[in-house]
Amino acid sequence: MDQGQELIRLAVFGQPVKQSLSPRIHGLFAQQLGLNVEYRAIESTESTFADDVSALAASGARGCNVTAPFKQMAFTLASHHSEIARQAQAANTLVFETEWRADNTDGRGLVADLQRNGLSRDNTACIALLGAGGAAAGVIADLLSAFPGELCIANRTQSRAKALAQRFSDLGNVFACEPHELLEHGPFDALVNATSAGHQGEHPVIQGEFLNPDALLYDMNYGAAAGALEAHCLSKGIRYCDGIGMLVGQAAVSFEIWTGLRPNTEIVIDQIRNEIGD
Ligand code: NDP
Repeated sequence: MDQGQELIRLAVFGQPVKQSLSPRIHGLFAQQLGLNVEYRAIESTESTFADDVSALAASGARGCNVTAPFKQMAFTLASHHSEIARQAQAANTLVFETEWRADNTDGRGLVADLQRNGLSRDNTACIALLGAGGAAAGVIADLLSAFPGELCIANRTQSRAKALAQRFSDLGNVFACEPHELLEHGPFDALVNATSAGHQGEHPVIQGEFLNPDALLYDMNYGAAAGALEAHCLSKGIRYCDGIGMLVGQAAVSFEIWTGLRPNTEIVIDQIRNEIGD
């Protein structure tokens, strides 16, 4: 890095955000590309979020990431929205220009990591998405674009799965079912766990019959929140991958939006895995 090089100010907002891996990931991207980046983790609240983001922008920052529970609020703060953010009605990336722009890079991070783990883009892949919260909503458009075969959304609260399937119905073959009905609609080539059950030490029950023999169970969770489902899959002989690759992948797309430079994700995924002892 050149001395005197422009400082690129960035941050992530969340509640809680103390444990976020984003500052470390973006620090590794900056190091890799020789950029001078300051990336902070800023704890916010629903009542202060808008002012907190404005204060960051006023300090000369180039943009920010936004994590739970502020992604919907972040969307409403921007005047320009990418098509993906508009479809999700939620943003994980803001760019501070004269007018603020909002994007949602979660789906691109997920699709890249599904491909990295052997799921090929084709017209026949059948995917099940477990969960219907913010993370699920953020990835549906990208999933339908990359794997247009069939997307089945199953959620504990069925009405939320139905609402999502309805919202995205113009984009492809997407429908909702109850979790116990997955067996009737499978077997799937991949099952994406977008539930937060792992944070309570729980996991969705996955029957091997849901899945094709070489299918992938992709868990958006990582670290301690992924342990229960990973052990469950191991006991059933199901191929499992946690969400570290998605996390690094969505960060790389955000980083490119802010800087115009695309980091190499492979080495950062390995580095983060080593550091969290996975
Ligand atoms: P939300 O709170 O918006 O949604 C949570 C979802 O999990 C809902 O569908 C909810 O069902 C379901 N759920 C919660 N507890 C259980 C349970 N015990 N059994 C079954 N279903 C349950 O969370 P997000 O959508 O924002 O995040 C989901 C997960 O994805 C989180 O663990 C988050 O850490 C992870 N994530 C990972 C990312 C990555 O880059 N790897 C990016 C974004 C999120 P119901 O509707 O019935 O309440």
